[in-house]
Amino acid sequence: MIESLLIANRGEIACRIIRTARALGIRTIAVYSDADARALHVREADEAVHIGASPARESYLVAERILAAARDTGAAAIHPGYGFLSENADFAQQVIDNGIVWVGPRPASIRAMGLKDAAKQRMIAAGVPVTPGYLGDDQDPARLAREAAAIGYPVLIKAVAGGGGKGMRRVDDAAAFADALASCQREAAAAFGDDKVLIEKYILSPRHIEVQVFGDTHGNVVHLFERDCSLQRRHQKVIEEAPAPGMDADTRAAVCAAAVKAAQAVDYVGAGTIEFIADASDGLRADRIWFMEMNTRLQVEHPVTEMITGQDLVAWQLRVASGEPLPCRQDELAIDGHAIEARLYAEDPAKGFLPSIGRLEAFDLGDTARVDTGVERGATISPYYDPMIAKVIAHGATREEARETLADTLDAAVVWPLRSNAGFLVEALDHPDFVAGRVDTGLIAREGDALMPPVLPSEEVLATAAAALAGPQRIAGFRLNAAPQRTARMLVGGEPVSVDFAAVAVSPVAHDRLLVTEGGQTWEVTPFRAAGAAAGGAGDGAILSPMPGRVIAVEVAAGDAVVKGQRLVTLEAMKMEHSLTAPFDGHVADLAAQPEGQVTEGTLLVRIVRDGE
Ligand code: ADP
Ligand code: ADP
Ligand code: MG
Repeated sequence: MIESLLIANRGEIACRIIRTARALGIRTIAVYSDADARALHVREADEAVHIGASPARESYLVAERILAAARDTGAAAIHPGYGFLSENADFAQQVIDNGIVWVGPRPASIRAMGLKDAAKQRMIAAGVPVTPGYLGDDQDPARLAREAAAIGYPVLIKAVAGGGGKGMRRVDDAAAFADALASCQREAAAAFGDDKVLIEKYILSPRHIEVQVFGDTHGNVVHLFERDCSLQRRHQKVIEEAPAPGMDADTRAAVCAAAVKAAQAVDYVGAGTIEFIADASDGLRADRIWFMEMNTRLQVEHPVTEMITGQDLVAWQLRVASGEPLPCRQDELAIDGHAIEARLYAEDPAKGFLPSIGRLEAFDLGDTARVDTGVERGATISPYYDPMIAKVIAHGATREEARETLADTLDAAVVWPLRSNAGFLVEALDHPDFVAGRVDTGLIAREGDALMPPVLPSEEVLATAAAALAGPQRIAGFRLNAAPQRTARMLVGGEPVSVDFAAVAVSPVAHDRLLVTEGGQTWEVTPFRAAGAAAGGAGDGAILSPMPGRVIAVEVAAGDAVVKGQRLVTLEAMKMEHSLTAPFDGHVADLAAQPEGQVTEGTLLVRIVRDGE
């Protein structure tokens, strides 16, 4: 077994890898950027090496810095985690050329699966069913339009170098094709430095089904069953589960066999995932599941597979990288119960899922579910990296048991003063279609508004908060059964609220500030008077840039009437587009944002005032 391991990553996955490495007696070495100097993964590792400035392209993406850190610390192996350099075949080769063990597949396997068109061609040759489409080198727009028509609308244009849900456009008819192609190529060139596209049949009633595969250097390949990752927002996974709801034994056997065949076709070693798209209009059927792509690394959602199989996939990776055979044969693997994972993000669903940046003053996910996280209370969520703060994973004997545990855990989640998507996740987990296992990749987009968590806590919770704020002295002299109704004015998350409450509900101490958690959301509650001056910020319609970025669209003009939730400005920040929306009905009083303008955190973009102000 390797004796030391450098983890070329950050956040929850770095902590996850350190945990297993430590259990196996392996010395761990973290790397970190300026922004991560005090991060959890740095403190949990045996050693840590600073590798550069905060932007990933100046630290976590600089192969030379990581190799130097490995040489300086005498690291025997490098684990890349996911994202960053994990699917970079040149980096894998450099690691190997430096005499360091690469915890991942052979560079040739990464290359074979790196571009979606070449990967699909390879799979066709290996006899794996692939989504029908055009994979040619001829990228002339007229040719692509003819191919799209031949495939039949709707089609999906995909960047061959794409990933992370970017570089994809659904096109419903020929008239929309040229514009969609141009915008897809632009996005692909900017994000991946390669504007080549392929065209696929857009599968209706689509479900994302993927299979965990594992290979070793002795020629063995097994699968660890499927995951269903159909709950997605903008083609990015939000909730994942294993096994897939409604998967029968024959269909499972067929899709898992196809995955093993795909892995064998590229001599796969280590952990990998074969992603399939299923047409689920008539349930899951083996003849309606097609290969989409392979991710040649450990997947974000690997914990659901660990929980249904009882295996530690990071331990498998480290054993395989050390030259050992796979820990289990296929017939020793079985599914036990059901597991569901939710990705908890520091983001605000009410503001178009805008990342929420800053210090995490309160953070508590209880102890009923598995929590894979890279942060703790007091940590700062920076604008430099993906704002995922934790993965919360529940296991149960049945799907319903796992679902209830996960929903209960997220319902009680405390994330404050940053906003999180926990309330949104609770609504998604409780949605009747999810409860019934009727999932497809369009569910979140379709049900968007229905999944928005409430703006304020329930009357019942507000009444309890009001009583606690009022304190015991106010009710001295009343008998318990004659508790008077009182009315309190409070600020709840900055919004003025009046609430009737029974004074009997008092807690023994009076507070001037409470944190109230309900449905995965946390609000600060203060008496109205105490907030006094601070209240200026409350109904304030000043829309500030929440992070450094670039304005890519200004969607209103000065003086325009706007309604609550209307899009005002779209920013590109953290490699994603974020729309800023009107906090209430009113009109545009100031318009400071300029198209293409660079903005720093806190820059005034737009000011909305209520009509009459
Ligand atoms: P997986 O397939 O392992 O679940 P995803 O498909 O969600 O991962 O994402 C693919 C890669 O893109 C991951 O390695 C992840 O680190 C990265 N990624 C995911 N979401 C974002 C994001 N919002 N911004 C930047 N990178 C992201
Ligand atoms: P990425 O590399 O960004 O993960 P994928 O090819 O895996 O790209 O596709 C991401 C998501 O887009 C899938 O999980 C699925 O929801 C959707 N998708 C991809 N291909 C199709 C298709 N042919 N029809 C319908 N949806 C698709
Ligand atoms: Mg994918």
